[in-house]
Amino acid sequence: MKIVDIRATTVTVPLEAPLRHASGAHWGRFVRTIVEVEADNGLVGLGELGGGGESAEAAVRGLRDYLVGHDPVNLEALRFAIANPTASLYNNRIQLLAAIEFACLDLVGQHLDVPVHDLLGGRIRDRVPFASYLFYRTSNADGTGEVRTAEQLVEHALALKAEHGFTVHKLKGGVFPPEFELDGYRALAEAMPGDRFRYDPNGALSVAQARRFGEAIKDLPNDYYEDPTWGLNGVRQLRDLGIPLATNTVVVNFEQLATNVRDPAVDVILLDTTFWGGIRACVKAAAVCETFQLGVAVHSSGELGIQLATMLHLGAVLPNLSYAADAHYHHLTDDIIAGGKMSYQDGVIAVPSGPGLGVTLDRAKVAEYAELYKELGGYPYDRDPARPGWYPLVPNERWADPAIAT
Ligand SMILES: [Mg+2]
Repeated sequence: MKIVDIRATTVTVPLEAPLRHASGAHWGRFVRTIVEVEADNGLVGLGELGGGGESAEAAVRGLRDYLVGHDPVNLEALRFAIANPTASLYNNRIQLLAAIEFACLDLVGQHLDVPVHDLLGGRIRDRVPFASYLFYRTSNADGTGEVRTAEQLVEHALALKAEHGFTVHKLKGGVFPPEFELDGYRALAEAMPGDRFRYDPNGALSVAQARRFGEAIKDLPNDYYEDPTWGLNGVRQLRDLGIPLATNTVVVNFEQLATNVRDPAVDVILLDTTFWGGIRACVKAAAVCETFQLGVAVHSSGELGIQLATMLHLGAVLPNLSYAADAHYHHLTDDIIAGGKMSYQDGVIAVPSGPGLGVTLDRAKVAEYAELYKELGGYPYDRDPARPGWYPLVPNERWADPAIAT
């Protein structure tokens, strides 16, 4: 099998409402680039990467000359062919490598008529548990969808729990002053006794603020405290809190993982199939974590169904997946895969069992959302439309005002 062509199509798919985070917001939709890698046997493998819009399309197309003639089975060679670790200092291709790796795994799986998880050691579980991923939200143009107050947050979480069966809940914070978000987090725990919780301010708190917040939630059933402050050297100062500490921001490659093993800062590594450069890199990282008894979970950087499939195949094969995965997926109103959005039942999603990634494109949906992207364009992830001119500091002090309805 040889690669003969590579295509990229940027789409934008609406969210139920704009999602706020410490650095800005998702402005009511996700922008994702769908990658198609075609082989000489007529098979097409699918990949996906985030953001970027036209620049992502151009970056993917720019790899065509590197990929044509390459056998998609040769995944280890692929890593060096397009993301040599020293050359990557200049060309920064790890996330592109991830999208191409997904597509090559999809091709190989289709070619052999086996699901991707069979190429990764075989599945240990048929279903992957997910946490509800709770965001503060600004309202839609019609006034619906706002999540700002503790009451709105609890109402939103209970609705998601009723619809999807979540028993683990993650609050994305770093938007409002920490003491306000503390009230929201505690209200969630009070409203859903028996469930588990995690708080993630995306590193926006100072070490002292993170310590105060941590002390104030110690009595709750916390899975972990995610990126409470910035950096391994900041987080390491919180090791005496007695709450497991997690990151998806400062352990995203093997050098950083080694640093964390030699001088421990975090207890749980959130593996992102894009940030790490593919599903296989995450499997390798999970093996290091198994060796050193670090926890692992599956991270979400915002996904449509192709990327979600990569997360499900990853979750299926990790023996040490000791926490529910994260996904933004339930915030989407639609998807570009055939059959529509995958569904949660009792807080889990079934691992696709078809050949390759087990998902195919709904061409009409791809065309519809590619058109919507052309109409709306991109959006700046690191800006908040509710606060023109604003940008955060790290640690932050420019919090959103919880008294202002949006
Ligand atoms: Mg995070």
